[in-house]
Amino acid sequence: MTVRNPLMRHEWQSEIFQCKSNDISTFTSLLHTQLDRHDFTATTLGTVDGYPILACESRFYDPEKPSVLVSAGFHGEEPAGPWGLLHLLTKWEDGGPHSLNITLLPLVNPTGFLRGTRFNYNEQNPNRGFGFKDGRVLVQEDTSEEGKILIANSALLEESSRDGILTCHEDVLQTGSYLYTFEESSRPGIFSLTLLDTLKSCVALTDATEIDGLPLEGHLIHNHFDTSFESYLVQAGAKVGVCSETGARQPIDQRILANSALSATSLSKQNVRFEFSFPSWYRC
Ligand SMILES: [Zn+2]
Repeated sequence: MTVRNPLMRHEWQSEIFQCKSNDISTFTSLLHTQLDRHDFTATTLGTVDGYPILACESRFYDPEKPSVLVSAGFHGEEPAGPWGLLHLLTKWEDGGPHSLNITLLPLVNPTGFLRGTRFNYNEQNPNRGFGFKDGRVLVQEDTSEEGKILIANSALLEESSRDGILTCHEDVLQTGSYLYTFEESSRPGIFSLTLLDTLKSCVALTDATEIDGLPLEGHLIHNHFDTSFESYLVQAGAKVGVCSETGARQPIDQRILANSALSATSLSKQNVRFEFSFPSWYRC
């Protein structure tokens, strides 16, 4: 089995954004332009080596509306997530879907992103160490700096993911793509299959039958619980969850469009209510 090297540097040239995939200054500048355009509130949850971890909330919070959280950039060698989320923001008009309370974590691991490495500057894995016991998230021995910041903000994150959590990852070992999904049912339901349809419309799916020792069934790993961020939020009450894994041996721009489309699907009220409608402007 090939093993991921968490310190290997990866970088790609994006034609969509006309920059390298690890160009954090261009990413930050474009992100703030879009957040301002949509009147999102950006809150710094904490800083890692001087870089902020932002939570960005849509205006007009209404407790009657579904609340969905989209996160990206936990692993620095998986840049299509953050760029895909930014791409979606450039496509929106006037604040995005008004029928949802939207919270975005656009770049959880900035020091890994700028280095193009999986782990952060301190060689920690930001997507592990979310222990969960007696209804509460707990810091563990292997919790990263980013993880401790997110856990310190658990009330906000649990509330904002009440109706769903999407977390955008990539797999540098794969050409094809796949999903981890979470639903109440033991078999993948409409939510999982809808997200899989979106993925399939943008990129080729993997031929693998096993990923990191876990069996893939129909390109999905369903209801697998570990100490990841998404697993924690589902245990804390998120109704549905998905962790997307685009195969990073595909061109970067195709992966960016796939992550943008996955985010759009997760943030459609219809999808949260299990009635899917694909945004008409999407052409992957
Ligand atoms: Zn990842």
